[in-house]
Amino acid sequence: MPPKNLLLFIFVLTSYALFSQEDRITKKEVLQLLNSSDSCLYKSDYKNSLTFSRKALNFALQLNDNDLIARSYNTIAGNYEEIVEIDKALEYYDKSVYHFEKAFNDTLKAAVYNNIGNIYFYRKKDFEKGIQFYTKSVEISEKINNIYSIVLSKLNLTSLYFENNQYNQGIIHLDYVEKHQSYIRIIYVKSYFHILLGKKFQHLKQYEKAELNFKEAINIGEKNNSKIYLSDSYHDYSKFLFAIGKHQEAYTFLEKHQFLKNEIFDLEKIKNVKIIGMDIALDESKRELSAINKEKNLQSENLKKTKIIVSLILVFLMLMLFLLYILYRNNIFRKKINDFLEDKNEELKIAKEKAEEASKLKTQFISTISHELRTPLYGVVGITNMLSDEHKELADSPHLNSLKFSARYLLSLVNDLLQINKIEENKVVLENLTMNIYDEINMVSNSLSFIANRNKNKVVTIIDESIPDYLVGDKLRLSQILMNLVSNALKFTQNGEVIIKANLEKRDNTICFVKFEIEDTGVGIAEKDLSKIFDKFVQIDRKEDDYQGAGLGLSIVKKLVNLFKSEIFVESEEGRGTKFTFTIAFDADMSKVNEIINDIKVDLSSDMVYKVLVVEDNKINQMVTRKIMERNNFKTVIVDDGYAAMEALSKEQFDVILMDINMPLINGFDTTRLIRKKGITIPIIALTAFAKDEISEEAISAGMNDVLIKPFEPSKLIYSIETLVKRKMD
Ligand code: ADP
Repeated sequence: MPPKNLLLFIFVLTSYALFSQEDRITKKEVLQLLNSSDSCLYKSDYKNSLTFSRKALNFALQLNDNDLIARSYNTIAGNYEEIVEIDKALEYYDKSVYHFEKAFNDTLKAAVYNNIGNIYFYRKKDFEKGIQFYTKSVEISEKINNIYSIVLSKLNLTSLYFENNQYNQGIIHLDYVEKHQSYIRIIYVKSYFHILLGKKFQHLKQYEKAELNFKEAINIGEKNNSKIYLSDSYHDYSKFLFAIGKHQEAYTFLEKHQFLKNEIFDLEKIKNVKIIGMDIALDESKRELSAINKEKNLQSENLKKTKIIVSLILVFLMLMLFLLYILYRNNIFRKKINDFLEDKNEELKIAKEKAEEASKLKTQFISTISHELRTPLYGVVGITNMLSDEHKELADSPHLNSLKFSARYLLSLVNDLLQINKIEENKVVLENLTMNIYDEINMVSNSLSFIANRNKNKVVTIIDESIPDYLVGDKLRLSQILMNLVSNALKFTQNGEVIIKANLEKRDNTICFVKFEIEDTGVGIAEKDLSKIFDKFVQIDRKEDDYQGAGLGLSIVKKLVNLFKSEIFVESEEGRGTKFTFTIAFDADMSKVNEIINDIKVDLSSDMVYKVLVVEDNKINQMVTRKIMERNNFKTVIVDDGYAAMEALSKEQFDVILMDINMPLINGFDTTRLIRKKGITIPIIALTAFAKDEISEEAISAGMNDVLIKPFEPSKLIYSIETLVKRKMD
């Protein structure tokens, strides 16, 4: 068994460090624990030594103090070495070196290398490796100039060389120690030094010196009760005694050595130590495991985080992709819609242009047709009237009556068409005239008495007496509405009753809301047709040979009522009758009424004889106009065109000129301009089949005084002539 006391140096080292370190209280405590552990190890009390070093290691780890960790591992390794758990001892020494390196503690690193050298030397008998570690230790110690540490390593090297019978090599190192023996402060090291000196002198056969040194070593050991050291000292001294032939004495010391050795390596102790050792290993494993777990947790947490981040990124990417897709789809959709709308817009533009063109054409067409139709109709109606006037015997002729009826029907159709057209083009503006509701209703009922009689109907008029006598409103349009509704009521009723009612619904200051009701007991209208009857050209259940209307009447009525800013309602029951209702607001402000009345300067009592120049190219019209004039005792000169008119004017004096507009050679406007140029100021009345609004502006600018639309009421023409001539004379 090789000497083992060199291990003690290490413990002395760490314990020694305790006194040199004045650190935080906790660190101090750790060092105290290590000190206790070292003390126990000196006494071979491995159990307590390991308990202390284990505690110290736990504290050191908590403090994360590499120096303390390294010291703890070193002590633990020392214990394992002592109980001959070599591999474990090496494992802990390695850890110790690792932590001393981290703590930059070269002194203790050198010490641990020393201890590792011991293991290779004593335990593994690997002298080469032993020398390597001792030499490393010496090198480090030399670097930091730690003589004491060099002394320790050199002592070990000496021991190794002696053991390997390389005495000369060993003596070189031992000489160094002898020179520096003052550095040896620890008693056990001194004892070991003496053993080696004993061996040296034994080798050099200087037996006295050798014995002295061996005895000195034993002396130190016995004084200090160091069992390991003493055991080895007894052993080496016994070997020396044997070598010098003192066999008896040698045997005594060998026994002493054996006794101590047995005591030291008491099996029970080893068992206890092993248990503690196992605890330490367990602690170590636990620590490693918890470190691994920590690492694992950290990793799994990182992984989780990474997973979450990756999932979030994925979700985000998917969302972005989805949004992109939607955007893309929307874009395509929008583009399609845009293209579609553009196409439609283009189509609509074209359609609008076409519609406008068509509407223009329609207006022109209606205007032309009305013009073209009205002129001959004017003739037809006029001639028919003349015929019945001149040939009284024909008064009952069914042919003549039929002719009259047809001509009138055609005229009313043309007029209706013209009116609708005008309303639709917003050309109709209501006029403010003074009116009396009773007169208007009476006029309507009287003028329709013929149809009433024909269908054997009774017309009843009920007029609210609270309606003021004078109202301001467009009586012509009102009578037109009533005329249409009452004539319909009479047409669709046989042997029944038609009631015309006017009630003052409410009064708002001067504004009177008059509610009109036209009710009949006729055929009625089916519910399904009620919504259609106000449309244009709608006739329900009409017989083909019936010329009573073109289906425009109600459509005109609705438009006229709307012009009055009102609405018309219908209630009907088939077989029982129909009721139309509408309310119109009239102003009953007397000052306005008076104003209007004062504006009318008419003297219808005049029986003046005027001389009239008629400029007209149409022979029938010439005849009709002449007839009207003659019936009023006006003198008439008729010319065919404008130039003839100029000639006539240069020869004769006239009171008034009736001028056709549409004439060959020179039209009415230009003729009027020529007349005015000559300085002739007599009134000129335009007689035209054009709608009034279309020509009135040009007529006035050409110098005309009034415009009458053909066919006109003869009385209207007379009224106009008288007014203008009288005004001229005034
Ligand atoms: P018209 O009288 O020229 O046919 P209207 O526009 O005046 O055209 O009337 C449209 C249709 O409404 C008529 O053809 C008729 O069928 C129905 N109608 C109008 N008034 C009455 C009424 N008082 N009684 C029954 N039917 C009516």
